Amino acid sequence: MKLQDSSLLREQAYVDGQWVGCPSLPVFDPATGSRIASVPSLQREDVKHAIRCAGAAFCSWSRLLAGERAGFLRLWIDLIRKNKEDLAFLITCEQGKPLSESRDEVDYGVSFLEFYAEEAKRLYGETIPPFRRSSRIVVTKEPLGVVAAITPWNFPMAMITRKIAPALAAGCTVVCKPAIETPLTALALVALAERAGIPPGVFNVVTGDAVQIGIELTANPLVKLIAFTGSTAVGKLLMNQSASSVKRLLLELGGNAPFIIFPDADIDSALSGVMFSKYRNMGQTCISSNRIYVHEDIYELFLERLSYEVSKLKVGSGGLEGVDQGPLISQSALIRLEQQIKSSVDQGAQIVKGGCRHSLGGTFFEPTVLRDVRDEMRIACEEIFGPVAPVLCFSDEADVIARANATRSGLAAYIYSCNLSRCWRMAEELEFGMVGINEGRLSTELAPFGGTKESGIGREGSRYGIEDYVNLKYMLFGGLSH
Ligand code: ADP
Repeated sequence: MKLQDSSLLREQAYVDGQWVGCPSLPVFDPATGSRIASVPSLQREDVKHAIRCAGAAFCSWSRLLAGERAGFLRLWIDLIRKNKEDLAFLITCEQGKPLSESRDEVDYGVSFLEFYAEEAKRLYGETIPPFRRSSRIVVTKEPLGVVAAITPWNFPMAMITRKIAPALAAGCTVVCKPAIETPLTALALVALAERAGIPPGVFNVVTGDAVQIGIELTANPLVKLIAFTGSTAVGKLLMNQSASSVKRLLLELGGNAPFIIFPDADIDSALSGVMFSKYRNMGQTCISSNRIYVHEDIYELFLERLSYEVSKLKVGSGGLEGVDQGPLISQSALIRLEQQIKSSVDQGAQIVKGGCRHSLGGTFFEPTVLRDVRDEMRIACEEIFGPVAPVLCFSDEADVIARANATRSGLAAYIYSCNLSRCWRMAEELEFGMVGINEGRLSTELAPFGGTKESGIGREGSRYGIEDYVNLKYMLFGGLSH
């Protein structure tokens, strides 16, 4: 591993300010399939201990002033910035995305720390006009307590900071379980947090068997919130498991984003929107366009232009200069993608571009475009999570809205049209938590990210994204005399 600071490669978990456990679970580079490091498989007792320590640390961390906590976060931010190249390198090594995207992820990840370090100073309460002359009503916001963060592999850093930043800034303490595919970025981040002087117990990272750790995190009464990004299936499981201790849940689950292009759209801009929303991170994001609805008047033209753009994508190891598409995360992801394509082709979809494993081998897959896709095909019903663009045809606005909404997911949707009335109308009609209007890049720390229906509960980012980390307290002051 060519890290400038080799001490950022950690093969132990971090609990209560200590590096613990013996490396036993291998972490692989998806570009080569080779083992790059190993991390410990902590047992349930270890996780219980981590939660207990986070509970103990909460007593002092929550009592600091918001500005004091922001001071720690700022030191951490500075260290992350200084070590940006190493963090980006680690992300690419364990996740596979091109280095340029990993650098963007570090910036995006830091943006949440910056935002919430300041936002916690604005966790305003309220006074409410009383119902009795001798009383006063005051509402304050108090940090929840210990938060469990369970994060996915597709954004090894940003999905952590999007949860940790509001949690720590508000005064909560955290036990984080990163994805087993990508724990190294999480461990490097916590190594930098340690250097920044963030006190022991405030931010713990545990690695190991997801099921066992998940059982402890959801059952333990000290944990007050499960903040999770991942699949809808696991989200539902965590909801069930959390019922026994009535935990709050913040869930960012799967999507099935429609991307709707009208004939009056600026085609160049729609194309660049599709290219970004579909092929960034090899299509492995929950807001990736999953069903590209193109109006019949521009269907052929759009397909031709899309295929040309896709043919220019350079596939290769994410660490190489000029690469646009890295490998998929795993063999199972590759096989699932092949099955989705095969099933659609069996039902009449046609491959316009790609469609096969890439000649580089491993988990590399050709960037793909499918035409004549219909709503009932598997590829349009399931989240794809790969570099495959299914293009569907539509003719009527009301019809495309109904088709776009006919899914149990409700995360992101995209509309391209130059008709402002249509854009407003459609944005209001689409049953999704986020709508990009002539815009394919939605993610920012400034806006609330999250979904409706089975895409999740709660929001991350913006002032809304700290609300899940606090309890409201209503205080009634009585017997006041004048
Ligand atoms: P994906 O299919 O994209 O890997 P998952 O929902 O399986 O998405 O994984 C997201 C996160 O949830 C990862 O950190 C993973 O280890 C964790 N996870 C998976 N299964 C469980 C479980 N039963 N309990 C707790 N966490 C889990």
